[in-house]
Amino acid sequence: ILKVNNVCKRYEDITVFENMNLTVKRGEVVVIVGPSGCGKSTFLRCLNALENIQDGEILLDGEKVDAASKNIGNIREKAGMVFQSYDLFPHLTVLQNLMLAPVKVKKRDKKEVEAEALTLLERVGLLTKKDSFPRQLSGGQKQRVAIVRALIMHPEILLLDEITAALDPEMVREVLDVVLSLAKEGRTMIIVTHEMQFARAVADRMIFIDSGRIVEEGSPEEFFENPKSDRLKQFLQTFS
Ligand code: ATP
Ligand code: MG
Repeated sequence: ILKVNNVCKRYEDITVFENMNLTVKRGEVVVIVGPSGCGKSTFLRCLNALENIQDGEILLDGEKVDAASKNIGNIREKAGMVFQSYDLFPHLTVLQNLMLAPVKVKKRDKKEVEAEALTLLERVGLLTKKDSFPRQLSGGQKQRVAIVRALIMHPEILLLDEITAALDPEMVREVLDVVLSLAKEGRTMIIVTHEMQFARAVADRMIFIDSGRIVEEGSPEEFFENPKSDRLKQFLQTFS
């Protein structure tokens, strides 16, 4: 469903990454880990056409991802992204936040979208919060709403960038459980996280990025039990 061929990303004088290659199949969960500043967020943003690329090609569901072209609306619908900060509209209720894009952008029927929003809210345990405003929710609750807001656009792939990094420890679990359940139902996802136990549980494939390149990749078992490169060994040690 996703193919990244020799992609190169530069900001003026800095090269964030060069010759990135990645193929993701439908239903696959790929987890990316790596030190701060290695280019994980930038990479996800390129997949979503939030950043332009300087070389190479990204194909999402057969469609070329190009930040400069007019199909970016389409690309962003196919690749739903959730960030560390949830960015809900503060003046809208949970339900209004969820309904905004499907109704305004996709011109879907209001009643139908509302029914879907309620079903999804129930699924993440937040049905009773449908009329609350974001400020009345905990961080974990807001992040679950942000996930629902991505899901309701029916993305082909979900891109999750450190979605629990800003949460207090006791709220991390409830958000990660939602992501685990999405993985179980066969959603295609690329997840950037520093939660190694979660990574191991959710991943079909692990990728370690360092200094702008993929240093190592493999099944979660190989990756955590038997890392090959010294860089990955060192990196994993900082978590144990
Ligand atoms: P973290 O784990 O801290 O989130 P990351 O792996 O997500 O790190 P990125 O945010 O992708 O890292 O940043 C990769 C590199 O690109 C960094 O060196 C950063 O300084 C640089 N960078 C990111 N955005 C810009 C920008 N708009 N202009 C110039 N350089 C940038
Ligand atoms: Mg980042």
